Amino acid sequence: MTLEQAIAKMNELQAAQQAYNHAMGVLSLDGDTAAPSASARGRGETMGYLSGVTYKLLVNDEVKEALETILQNKDAATPLQARQAELLKEDYDDTTRIPMDEYVAYSTLITNANAVWHEAKQKDDYASFAPYLEQIIDYNRRFASYKDQHKPAYDVLLDGYEKGASTATLDPFFALMREKLTPIILEVAQKPAPDCSFLEQRFPIHDQRIFSDRLMQMMGIPRDRCAIAETEHPFTTNFNKWDVRITTNYAETDVADSMYSVIHEGGHALYELGTADEIQFTCLASGASMGLHESQSRFYENLIGRSLPFCRALLPVMQECFPDQMKGVTAEGLYAAVNRSQPSLIRTQADELTYPLHIAIRYEMEKRMIAGDVKVGELPALWNQMYLDYLGVTVPNNREGILQDVHWAGGMIGYFPSYALGSAYGVQMLHALEKDFDPWCDVEKGDLSRITAWLGDKIHRHGRMLTPPQLLRSAIGQDFDPSCYTAYLTKKFADLYKL
Ligand SMILES: [Zn+2]
Repeated sequence: MTLEQAIAKMNELQAAQQAYNHAMGVLSLDGDTAAPSASARGRGETMGYLSGVTYKLLVNDEVKEALETILQNKDAATPLQARQAELLKEDYDDTTRIPMDEYVAYSTLITNANAVWHEAKQKDDYASFAPYLEQIIDYNRRFASYKDQHKPAYDVLLDGYEKGASTATLDPFFALMREKLTPIILEVAQKPAPDCSFLEQRFPIHDQRIFSDRLMQMMGIPRDRCAIAETEHPFTTNFNKWDVRITTNYAETDVADSMYSVIHEGGHALYELGTADEIQFTCLASGASMGLHESQSRFYENLIGRSLPFCRALLPVMQECFPDQMKGVTAEGLYAAVNRSQPSLIRTQADELTYPLHIAIRYEMEKRMIAGDVKVGELPALWNQMYLDYLGVTVPNNREGILQDVHWAGGMIGYFPSYALGSAYGVQMLHALEKDFDPWCDVEKGDLSRITAWLGDKIHRHGRMLTPPQLLRSAIGQDFDPSCYTAYLTKKFADLYKL
């Protein structure tokens, strides 16, 4: 095969992959938003069939030869082509090791598990979800061993979301979080809580929908390329940079819940919307890693969204959307309320200070699940015990406990650490950005365009061109240092609570 033929084959592969991913992505989005509950059965069949097709698209001798030809002649290919071949070959190697029947069965299982989880969560019925979770854990363990039987299975899974991550790097990371944050959490608990009652009044969902549009407008999200839908567990999905979808979940008596979901998912959306034109419809058109993706969402959600300057910009918008509920509220009052720190049950609603411990719990649980140290039936009790040990809270039911997150139902075991890593990356990005310009006057005016342009230049446009450590280093100009994150949290909450 000549290099020219190899490149043509690779381009053909990516065009087909993009088309299938697009179609399957729309099906999956529909399943999570609009489709009736019984539709999972048919969708599972369809997804299983389509995943078989995508498996065969990638796993065949012609693709292997094409990718090897390009990699052997890297210097004659363009940097974009060389990087595509590199990533596709990794994907080829990983996928080839999984037998096709298992690959297809797993895809069907995930579609069904997702639907079962939705109902199990609503009904607080862990028992109905447990057999699915058991199979998912089993598949993940098996797939990890196919990929690399010499490494512990959980390390293989972690590496799939964040290249280079392992228990060797994450054990000390989470130990640091516990060591540095627990004393502050305990100190904060002794202080009087700020008034949050104005955020817990009735906020009609109709008005919250209008407010979501205003938030997306404040974030500079182009609405002709990004739509919002409603779902049980907020997420973002992208088909290409001209079609990104975010989702949220409205709670009538908790306006901050959806507000921060929209800002979080909006951060993910800005990443995808900002990927360069020349990498669209290739495997490079996505985030560099899940940790980097979460760095963007949590950057907007917390570093910007929970800052005092942003609260100053946000308050008049909230007063316009919710005049009765927000009457007499000050920006300082709003800032204190959206930063109330309190050990709690739900990860997505947790404040910045306690959040890393929610992740530490999931990380420890996953380690034990994958190692086979704990039976699926024992997981809720372990979850509840860890919430008591780490955060001192008593979990009243599985709905607000082990069933709260969608990730395990979606087969994503090893994903959670991305949230904590991303939050930590974000703090170093903010420090780097502040060296280039002062963002806070812009934020106070509700203008995030310069910030998004900075992140666009440093992070978004590159897609997967660089490896995650390369991209991070080029953006922040230094190595990853989690103590910047704990120092940021310590200062912020010491100021807020006058410790
Ligand atoms: Zn996220």
